[in-house]
Amino acid sequence: MFILGNGLVITLDENSTVLQNGAVVVEGNLIKEVGETEAMKAKYPQAEFMDAKGKVIMPGMINAHHHFYSTFARGIPSKGKPAKTFGEILEGLWWRLDKVLTLDDVYYSAMLPIIDCVKCGVTTIFDHHASPFAVKGSLDIIAKAAMENGVRACLCYELSDRDGEKISQEGIEENVAFLKRVADNNEDGMLAASFGLHASFTLNDDTLKKAKEAADAVGSGFHIHTAEGPEDVEDSLKRSGKRVVERLNSFGILGPKTLAIHCVHVNDDEIKLLAETGTNVVHNPESNMGNAVGVSPVKKMLDAGVTVGLGTDGFTSDMFESIKVANVLHKHAPQDPSASWAEVPQMAFANNQKIAAKFFPNPVGKLAPGAYADMIVVDYHPWTPVHSGNYYGHILFGISGRAVETTIINGKVVMKDRELLLVDEAEVAAKARELAVKVWERF
Ligand SMILES: [Zn+2]
Repeated sequence: MFILGNGLVITLDENSTVLQNGAVVVEGNLIKEVGETEAMKAKYPQAEFMDAKGKVIMPGMINAHHHFYSTFARGIPSKGKPAKTFGEILEGLWWRLDKVLTLDDVYYSAMLPIIDCVKCGVTTIFDHHASPFAVKGSLDIIAKAAMENGVRACLCYELSDRDGEKISQEGIEENVAFLKRVADNNEDGMLAASFGLHASFTLNDDTLKKAKEAADAVGSGFHIHTAEGPEDVEDSLKRSGKRVVERLNSFGILGPKTLAIHCVHVNDDEIKLLAETGTNVVHNPESNMGNAVGVSPVKKMLDAGVTVGLGTDGFTSDMFESIKVANVLHKHAPQDPSASWAEVPQMAFANNQKIAAKFFPNPVGKLAPGAYADMIVVDYHPWTPVHSGNYYGHILFGISGRAVETTIINGKVVMKDRELLLVDEAEVAAKARELAVKVWERF
């Protein structure tokens, strides 16, 4: 048992509780109690005390959509003409990169962003993986990387028909195998799984049917890019006469355990369908802006009752950065400076918590009794008062991932005063740079 105390505690619980000199009591991998520091010390005199030195103590962040496999794209030499559309970005970069990854590359391409997550205070990650010529065993390798870093992760393989039937079948098998593995052994609540699908426009009717049957057999929902670019909508209309969300619904892909990623090009009927089916949406503002695919109607979806969470889509591992970009995007797009104040924290905190709750046995993303002891200490001494009515303004403008000093996950300290305790980052990065050269040669 230990107490992390003497900090400004932002709990992100249902009441947005903020404690000026607070402490979190941890027993095993769970939070036992949250209270004033002196009171907690008096109540648990046997507990070891970790001093936050007046800095901010808050829950670890949740990233609801990441792509570890994109790691080796950083600085990659471009080939061919600059992409003018989202489809050209996929064909010129991502669908070339994922094809050349070996299982060894998969391991290192997972290790580095996971390390980055720990350093940015992200403690729960939903990854969407692709390595079409190294499918089998890829999720176990990513799980190994996650466990070596001590992070909580929900993994899936993004099934697609774009590399032929054999690889498509392997994608189904990899998802099922990992879902079964996690059902048998979730590593103390650290691992979860979903059934990954790339996107409607790379999946034919037959594969969607097979995926649905396979997922039903193991009780899983799906993790799928949905109406990200206009290409997905055009393809869906051509294939089925239906828009993307309608097509997915006709195959039973939507539902409370499904994550529909992006939902940029969705109309009012589709938003209604997402709400009625209880489907979760994950918004990735930086990615949408970088790929120039448009602005997701997140306010409309939230108003319709859709649980919209927040992710990074591999653009960064820093959720605080994603919060900052979501804040300005949803003011800039409608040209309304009063917009997005409520919606962004709702996505990043409350809704990411709700999404995580569907995958992990105990609550994640808040400091409350019974929740997993996933928390961070941030080097931030606010120069204006902080309370439950304004803590979001402090997170938005005062905190970035690089200010995270200490990261604790599942009751274990994985980074202390910016030093990673479980892995040697320089060594891992050096090995990754060696592999990157070979990946780029094959690219
Ligand atoms: Zn994505």
